[in-house]
Amino acid sequence: MSDSYSRQNFETVAIHAGNTADPLTGAVVPPIYQVSTYKQDGVGGLRGGYEYSRSANPTRTALEENLAALEGGRRGLAFASGLAAEDCLLRTLLGPGDHVVIPNDAYGGTFRLFDKVVSRWGVDWSVADTSDPASVRAALTDRTKAIWVETPSNPLLGITDIAALAQVAREAGVRLVVDNTFASPYLQQPLALGADVVVHSMTKYMGGHSDVVGGALVVSDAALGEELAYHQNAMGAVAGPFDAWLVLRGIKTLAVRMDRHSENATRVTEMLSRHARVTHVLYPGLPEHPGHEIAAKQMKAFGGMVSFRVAGGEEAAVEVCNRAKLFTLGESLGGVESLIEHPGRMTHASVAGSALEVPADLVRLSVGIESADDLLADLQQALGS
Ligand SMILES: *Cc1c(COP(=O)(O)O)cnc(C)c1O
Repeated sequence: MSDSYSRQNFETVAIHAGNTADPLTGAVVPPIYQVSTYKQDGVGGLRGGYEYSRSANPTRTALEENLAALEGGRRGLAFASGLAAEDCLLRTLLGPGDHVVIPNDAYGGTFRLFDKVVSRWGVDWSVADTSDPASVRAALTDRTKAIWVETPSNPLLGITDIAALAQVAREAGVRLVVDNTFASPYLQQPLALGADVVVHSMTKYMGGHSDVVGGALVVSDAALGEELAYHQNAMGAVAGPFDAWLVLRGIKTLAVRMDRHSENATRVTEMLSRHARVTHVLYPGLPEHPGHEIAAKQMKAFGGMVSFRVAGGEEAAVEVCNRAKLFTLGESLGGVESLIEHPGRMTHASVAGSALEVPADLVRLSVGIESADDLLADLQQALGS
């Protein structure tokens, strides 16, 4: 699917892959095919393979072709949310008795899916520090089917060496899954580094405008792609046509947005690193970050997510969140507008008391693409200086 795009650069592929002019009118943007079913030319006479929009819809096909090309994969699949994509992946790959290694720092909803949902169907999991390949190797059992990685991780911005874990996975004969939501395919290409499956919450940087919820899977193995497509249709949590269209539109500016997110985040970390009320700044772009060298090797830039710890503990961290004005207090991330949140009480409340619990004095920023000067001024007033 993506072979014809392999000679073009990312910015070009983002705009053109899957975006062929509409065959009927020549419309340069794929129309929103807001339709459930398709007229057949005689029984079984499908036009372009479309029969029912759970199975396939032209707007979703455009997005799925684009996703495969962006990640350098053979098959892309679009879902109603990131968690719907994860659920489809887990139920395709795993059965009762199987085991998965998951990171000690993961999106709270991913942890909840393992801990509260798939565990009920006899799927077992254990936690490892995925930034340390030895820790992952030690967590493998003879029942392990997959290693799950998030890099950079949410909310602690930990970095995992994807190529090193691909080697561990290959040796063990298990699949490596990489949640690429924080980096986006512009900054990081997990399949090229040896991963088997890329997962996205398209709600975040792919959509980029806080106006759509969506998820994606991309794989380079065509047979696995077929199996996933079978389950996507059988389970039915597909992306609707308007949602697919919004993400396809968002992706056209992904490269310029990620450049600006990364520049603004760098400015923010420079200010926070010098601030008296900030005890730690967590950002892979900082030379003192333990994963900095690996991030510099496997990422094009360091992205727009920044976390920091506030002197004075939980109350002080919550107060900073409440005082921010330009940074909107809210969950989610990856939109053009800046967001601030307290992971312990908000996005990561579901990991409280587990091995994934996050520090109470932690604040997470999704640094948007507004003026960096305005963002710095708002953070300074929120920190009380
Ligand atoms: C948001 C998010 C998800 C879940 O995606 P939804 O679209 O909210 O279902 C998964 N992984 C990461 C890293 C996320 O940030």
